Amino acid sequence: MTTAITGGQLVTGLGGDPIPNSTVVIVDDRIAAAGPAADVTIPADANTLDATGHTVLPGLIDCHVHSTYRARDVKQHLLNTPSYNILRSTQIIEETLACGITSAREMSGADAGFRAAINEQLIPGPRLQISILMISQTGGHGDYWVPAGMHIPKRAWLHSPVADGPEEIRKLVRHVLMAGADFVKICTSGGITSVTDSWDEPQYTVEEIRVAVEEAANKRKTVAVHAEGTSGIKRALEAKVHSVEHGWFIDEECVDRMIDQGTWWVPTIALVPLSVEHRKTNTQWSTQQLGDEAKKDNEILSLFEKQRSLWRDAVRRGVKVAMGSDQSHRLMTGNNLVELEYMVDWLGISPMEAIVCATGRAAECMQRPDLGALEPGRLADVVVVEGDPLSDIRLLQSRDKIKLIMKDGNIYKQTLVE
Ligand SMILES: [Zn+2]
Repeated sequence: MTTAITGGQLVTGLGGDPIPNSTVVIVDDRIAAAGPAADVTIPADANTLDATGHTVLPGLIDCHVHSTYRARDVKQHLLNTPSYNILRSTQIIEETLACGITSAREMSGADAGFRAAINEQLIPGPRLQISILMISQTGGHGDYWVPAGMHIPKRAWLHSPVADGPEEIRKLVRHVLMAGADFVKICTSGGITSVTDSWDEPQYTVEEIRVAVEEAANKRKTVAVHAEGTSGIKRALEAKVHSVEHGWFIDEECVDRMIDQGTWWVPTIALVPLSVEHRKTNTQWSTQQLGDEAKKDNEILSLFEKQRSLWRDAVRRGVKVAMGSDQSHRLMTGNNLVELEYMVDWLGISPMEAIVCATGRAAECMQRPDLGALEPGRLADVVVVEGDPLSDIRLLQSRDKIKLIMKDGNIYKQTLVE
């Protein structure tokens, strides 16, 4: 099957100037050609789609999603069966694809069955790299122990994510890799949704984090860490992790180290300000959870302003950034690309740079050189949006302006004129 997308502005995902009046040719599951219309020959058998007035982009990549369902309301969560939660997840997964996200790093919640069901096209969704569990110390961000004396499993189809000490961590990391994880996720700081910790406390020792990095490396896999406060980020950097998720309270020393070690930063900026905003109109929202999210969100947001110049400086100096929304039961499912707007505003980058963080750079973060760009040989993940997101990044948030979504050369949505 051959398709040609003609007349649109081309954004390759690699950061060069946009190319007006372009042609992109897709043969089966690959990009065959992409460039100025004058330089690309359209094969005679091609089905031609007219993208005049539109922008043609690589399929977007969200480097931080939680794509499986759990009810935000704890009472409801306890009444749902695991099978119900799994079936509800299929809708979340489809909504992510419907935003134009064709690949995602799944930061805990989905096991190998979700990845396989998507790959076999049983359910529509982005191609997932999975971590399965968010490995956590006792009382850490992933340990959902409650003072009543029990653990409430967030996703009852998964193994317990709790491990303490190098040997337990080694065993659990080996377990997730055996179960098919593409990478390992661990928590090196507390977090907002957890019940018994604070977001700025460090979790795990450097020695414990190193064990995870070492075990992952044995299978040529990497470690992503949930880290919000400075001390947890520092421990993770000391252990040479692949990516810091959130990483809001990086300091100068962290920035130096991240540049030096080539550490990825997935800043997930929008979630906290959007949560604070959401609570103003949905007062029930906080009380449905056990953790004191409102207090933590407000605290963090009040400190964001101070971090802004440091973030901008970090990006200017070359910290590697990949877009991640932290789409979850909290917010942003189906509105993942609002993160791009926050990246432009808070990191002081251009819409083009933000798009690159969600395409070419994100593919690098995923170590998938076959994704993230419209150039010959890459997998045919293509999005076409009406108008010019380089002059207004918010265009990518309106799903009705997304006219084409193609993954692996398969069309998920197509409303362009043929
Ligand atoms: Zn997360």
